[in-house]
Amino acid sequence: MNASNKPRILTGDTPTGRLHLGHWVGSIENRARLQSDYDCYFLLANMHAFTTRADKAADIRNDTVEIVKDWLAAGIDPNRSTLVLQTEIPAIAELSWFFAMLLPFNRVMRNPTLKTEIEVKDLGDHYSFGFPLYAVGQCADILSFRAELVPVGEDQVAHIEMCREVARKFAWTYCGVSPEEDDANYVNQGSIFPIPKALVGRVGRLVGTDGKNKMSKSLGNAIFLSDSAKEIKKKVSQLYTGRQSMTEPGDIQNSLFQYVRVFIKDEARVRDLEDRYSRGDNIGDGHVKAEVAQAIEELLAPMRERRAEYDKPGGDDVVLDIIRTHASRANAVAEETLYLAKEKMHLAIGRRHLSFAL
Ligand code: ATP
Ligand code: MG
Repeated sequence: MNASNKPRILTGDTPTGRLHLGHWVGSIENRARLQSDYDCYFLLANMHAFTTRADKAADIRNDTVEIVKDWLAAGIDPNRSTLVLQTEIPAIAELSWFFAMLLPFNRVMRNPTLKTEIEVKDLGDHYSFGFPLYAVGQCADILSFRAELVPVGEDQVAHIEMCREVARKFAWTYCGVSPEEDDANYVNQGSIFPIPKALVGRVGRLVGTDGKNKMSKSLGNAIFLSDSAKEIKKKVSQLYTGRQSMTEPGDIQNSLFQYVRVFIKDEARVRDLEDRYSRGDNIGDGHVKAEVAQAIEELLAPMRERRAEYDKPGGDDVVLDIIRTHASRANAVAEETLYLAKEKMHLAIGRRHLSFAL
């Protein structure tokens, strides 16, 4: 617990592009919903963006601003939640070093999410030393805020598991907590870190418009929260199903029908579409796609409208102002955590204070 007496949430996004529907159903919907019950910290993982795009610094800055606009459009409320710009929170980088010492090298390299990323992003064996390090850094993102809950998509669960291991190891090594202790009792027993839990959204892995990979901003298979009605229609219509005619029985496990179930709100309509499609009862893919595109448009139109406010001239400055003010708020918490950790590690010599000037 903290000053606001609410448990904390930490989660975030990497500025490698704009946000898409996968982010919404996997994590952002939960973030928007939980803002009143939790003290929320939403991280812009701009340092992590450098792990795959070190040569695209200007793009990363631009994407950082765009992601904040997407958040505000999606209902993240800067008066209730704190936006955290990773590169302005030095405690995160410092804790990453210490946490790297608590994780066996091979444990990090066996992380299934990293392995998948290396494969789908075609990183081969030429990825940077910093690339796998981001998984350790993510433990520090979460633990710097002593978060209890981390709303994420399914692909992140392996990372949260590693973070839980780090939190336990820190407690055993520096806080005198027994390895036999129940996760729920760590703080009572003297640890500074609660053992955080992942909270996966109502869809843990939304498939992309390629019908194959997870929808991902780096893979060119995403419907973005800021897409126009026309773009939505076009992308949905490109979804490949392999079905030939409206009388051919269709597979309701295909990606088109994942979208039907995720985005069409009327349950009875969903059942009806599933029934007719699976029997090949005179229903074409084009028709189903049109209904899906309409449902997505209903979800995204209000977001687009809110976003337009920040796309006006001066909008970027408003965003940067929020980021700057919030960085001070975020540092107050992260610096406190670092100090507490240093005390446990016999490193503390006094508190330091960080501030920003334009
Ligand atoms: P990148 O391609 O750069 O890795 P990404 O699209 O995977 O980008 P991240 O910033 O890595 O996005 O992920 C942010 C959050 O959104 C994470 O919690 C992640 O699990 C979730 N998420 C991302 N894509 C999906 C998806 N297709 N379905 C459900 N959740 C998702
Ligand atoms: Mg990702």
